[in-house]
Amino acid sequence: MSDRPDYYTVLGVEPSASQEDIKRAYRSLARQWHPDVNQDNPEAEDRFKLVTEAYQTLSDPQRRASYDHGGASSSGFPFGQSGGMGDLFDLVDVMFGGLTGRRGGRGQWAEARGRDLQSEIVITLLDVLHGATREVTYERIVPCHECSGSGSAPGSQAQKCATCDGHGQVRYVQNSLFGQVSTVTECPTCHGRGQVITDPCKKCGGAGQVREEQKVEAEVPPGIEDGSMLRVEGYGDFASGGQGRPGDLILFVRVKPDPRFRRDGPELHADLPMNAAQAALGAELEFEGLEDTVHVKVDAGTQPGAEIVVHGAGLPKHGSKRRGSLHLRAKVHVPPAKSKRERELLHELEELWHKREK
Ligand SMILES: [Zn+2]
Ligand SMILES: [Zn+2]
Repeated sequence: MSDRPDYYTVLGVEPSASQEDIKRAYRSLARQWHPDVNQDNPEAEDRFKLVTEAYQTLSDPQRRASYDHGGASSSGFPFGQSGGMGDLFDLVDVMFGGLTGRRGGRGQWAEARGRDLQSEIVITLLDVLHGATREVTYERIVPCHECSGSGSAPGSQAQKCATCDGHGQVRYVQNSLFGQVSTVTECPTCHGRGQVITDPCKKCGGAGQVREEQKVEAEVPPGIEDGSMLRVEGYGDFASGGQGRPGDLILFVRVKPDPRFRRDGPELHADLPMNAAQAALGAELEFEGLEDTVHVKVDAGTQPGAEIVVHGAGLPKHGSKRRGSLHLRAKVHVPPAKSKRERELLHELEELWHKREK
């Protein structure tokens, strides 16, 4: 029995899902469970972490392969004993019902807040060390400059909608088994706006809004994890009609893997190559760290696989200036004896070591 969660279930994808499927699933889920948008729900943070953990594993082909190899037990269902499948359905509900339901019905012009947009930024491990600034270029919906968002051609004015008398909503009363049922719904003529444009603006065709290229400087804090999200407030779409506040721009941060390092939070792991003589005698070695050369003292008699810890040469802990450690693994290379001189020396050494071991 594994207590490891089934990451495919967590993301709601098939084990055969493509990288694109996985990314798409993660984006929806991460948006749903981000602690920023779930401040009243203490459970959200745990789910967000789990979803992110699943994404970090499955989006990395190597980690995914080793995860698949280990086998994902169905007993590792992540949402605890009380939840089970019911929670998964809740989750799916929230994903689809939440995203579509919230916007439906209230009417295009009644939106209180613009849509959140998403983009991705790719950084290196060195950026994780220092933090980084990235310019992101994307498109968003803004009020039309020509008509200041009114939708009416300059000089003309929108007329009050006759269907709803300017209310934006119409009420239907129906007779039913339980008596009269009255339903308030968006006005079909003005789509909730309360006004009808008689002379539409040439630039936006009466929509009052246009799609425009936008640039934003995003600050990436040091110590950030792959798969994290940064929220740039107010840089999403403007709400329809230019009312309310714009949505946010959500940036997904990808940390480009560095083949020399394995990362575990603030801890970095790497191999330290040395030859057998250096391992036996001890040596002062140099290791090309993230940004500078690290001087490493290797003790005499260092065994293959031994770990040498260089404190403070790892990555910063998120939100702090303190750095983790660099963990170097002794990778001992035994060169073949080639020249006559090498063979003589090694023969002599072999005799000495043989005697000592007796
Ligand atoms: Zn316009
Ligand atoms: Zn109307």
